[in-house]
Amino acid sequence: MRITSQNLDETVKRNDQIDRQVQEHIKYIEKRIIKWKALSIEEQAYEILKEHHLIEIPIPDNNWGGAIRKFPNGTKVPIINTAQPRIYQYFIYWHEIYHLTEDQEMKQHEEKSYEISTEFDLNERKADYFASQMIFGYLDLYDYFHSLKLNDFVVKIAHCMKSFKAPYKAVLIQLYQMAKKNHNDQLQSQIKAHFDLQFSLREWYSLFQEHALDDSLIKPSFVTNLNKIIETINNEIEQHPDVELFKDNLKVVKDWEFKYKTLQKQLKERSHGWLP
Ligand SMILES: [Zn+2]
Repeated sequence: MRITSQNLDETVKRNDQIDRQVQEHIKYIEKRIIKWKALSIEEQAYEILKEHHLIEIPIPDNNWGGAIRKFPNGTKVPIINTAQPRIYQYFIYWHEIYHLTEDQEMKQHEEKSYEISTEFDLNERKADYFASQMIFGYLDLYDYFHSLKLNDFVVKIAHCMKSFKAPYKAVLIQLYQMAKKNHNDQLQSQIKAHFDLQFSLREWYSLFQEHALDDSLIKPSFVTNLNKIIETINNEIEQHPDVELFKDNLKVVKDWEFKYKTLQKQLKERSHGWLP
């Protein structure tokens, strides 16, 4: 479901409904999965993804942030689209970590008999809500927003995007949720009025530059990185030199690597001129 100003209230209501379950999941992630607590939140996510044989490839599709690919042996591998701006990638990191870990955590709570949902939309909402709670969780976006002495609403949001390293809509949804809790009607309608605005990457880029915000967050990284999966397959080959399947797998992955490194070059060239 695409979130617009029309269904923003419904989305926030759904977030409240899944809040308890998502908070439980966050506790599980913090206790069992996060190893490097001193790292920044996006680096913590990156480390988790690396342990799951992370694949990073640039795909020129604005609507495709990432996915989990399930291999025949049951291994789930996260794929991140590096043709998206970095702040989107960081959000997708946590979104995919939710999908990677949702079964593990469910098993732990079997006795609590949570309603295990297979509903696609609801699972997607949970993954998004989980991602935003990981990013905004302990930091007070609402107070931060009000501390900004700026007149322009979008510029204020851009400052929040930069400070929390979060995408536009993720900031607006979280802020809306807090405005609602604080009965701040004025802020709610302001958010709604700006929610459906569409900005191109180029527009964000010049806005970030104009206001001296870190514009690298707006740029895609165009990384092609299949090192982790190649490492894993090489280990398999070393352990079972007679199994042809592993060698075939290696060939497939190496072909991908070649294909995306070529694409990466083209995409970089295409963006040259406005993305230094
Ligand atoms: Zn998803």
